[in-house]
Amino acid sequence: MRPTPLPLAHGPTPLESLDRLSDWLGGPRLLVKRDDQTGLALGGNKARKLEHLCAEALAQGCDTLVTGGGPQSNHCRMTAAAANRLGLECHLALAGTVAEQPTGNLLLDHLLGARLHPTAAREYYEIEASIEAVADEVRAAGGRPYAIPVGGASVTGALGYVDAARELTAQLAEPLDWIVVADGSGGTHAGLLAGLDGPTRVLGIDVGTRPDLDKRVPELAAATATAVGRPAAFGGSRHRCQGDTPCPPGDGEIHIDHTRFGAGYGKPTPECLEAIRAAARLEGLILDPVYTGKAMAGLIGWIREGRFTEHQSVLFWHTGGAPALFAGGFSEWLTSAT
Ligand SMILES: *Cc1c(COP(=O)(O)O)cnc(C)c1O
Repeated sequence: MRPTPLPLAHGPTPLESLDRLSDWLGGPRLLVKRDDQTGLALGGNKARKLEHLCAEALAQGCDTLVTGGGPQSNHCRMTAAAANRLGLECHLALAGTVAEQPTGNLLLDHLLGARLHPTAAREYYEIEASIEAVADEVRAAGGRPYAIPVGGASVTGALGYVDAARELTAQLAEPLDWIVVADGSGGTHAGLLAGLDGPTRVLGIDVGTRPDLDKRVPELAAATATAVGRPAAFGGSRHRCQGDTPCPPGDGEIHIDHTRFGAGYGKPTPECLEAIRAAARLEGLILDPVYTGKAMAGLIGWIREGRFTEHQSVLFWHTGGAPALFAGGFSEWLTSAT
């Protein structure tokens, strides 16, 4: 038996329409699911994953959460907040050096009192190894660590997005054609696939963290679906979105667009900048430069390329991330390009 998820996220998160953005783009009908409003220390998608991850940590008698990521990791910030809510310790393996003047998410990690472990790791699986190393240190010091992978992308974490898919279904009068979401670790995408029924397809926009995303999303979706007793056939067609060829419809298809991340993780593209500005100015909706800006740029790209049509309904799953806007380095390009 899996433990009952802990109530860490505000929900149901609002479902809103983006009529002005849709008009500007000439259709399709656009909606946004506001998981930037999940509430835990400024919100974001990791709150839903942490409801399940923390429940498992407590069920296993753990007293310390250990995870890691980049210095501006939203997942680390929210894990630190969840630990505080539950009276647990939190240790974070952070790629990069310790900044003298922390900004953005890193500032919040300090404020939340997480124990920071700077690591020379940069690559995805190096950071995973650093998390395990920190967990070993905690264990050696007599603690009982619960290690959470990068982005919370385990089956347990992805269960948060099975819940989210059900929550969305209850908010909708009729099914959507597409959901568009930023893909980092792939856990959100996988959980949605595992939880959705019907014809709705999910398009993941790869923001460039995980080298084996194409393989991991269907694997994790299948394992998550199995965990909740649902059909678990994903990615059978081996179709791979390249951003230029049309994607065939079909159940269990995996759609991941790798063409939008530009020069690298956290490096905004001109299209990302345009998307952040358009969402802000047409809808008052704040996106971030690492994840949701690129995801929205992908959505806009698909409309302009004629891959979403006027009569479809497309939902943008807002996964949070705004603290990275205040991380420094972004104010110049945000204010310079008009
Ligand atoms: C972690 C994160 C994502 C990616 O979610 P995954 O489940 O890791 O793919 C998207 N947006 C924001 C703001 C995030 O913090």
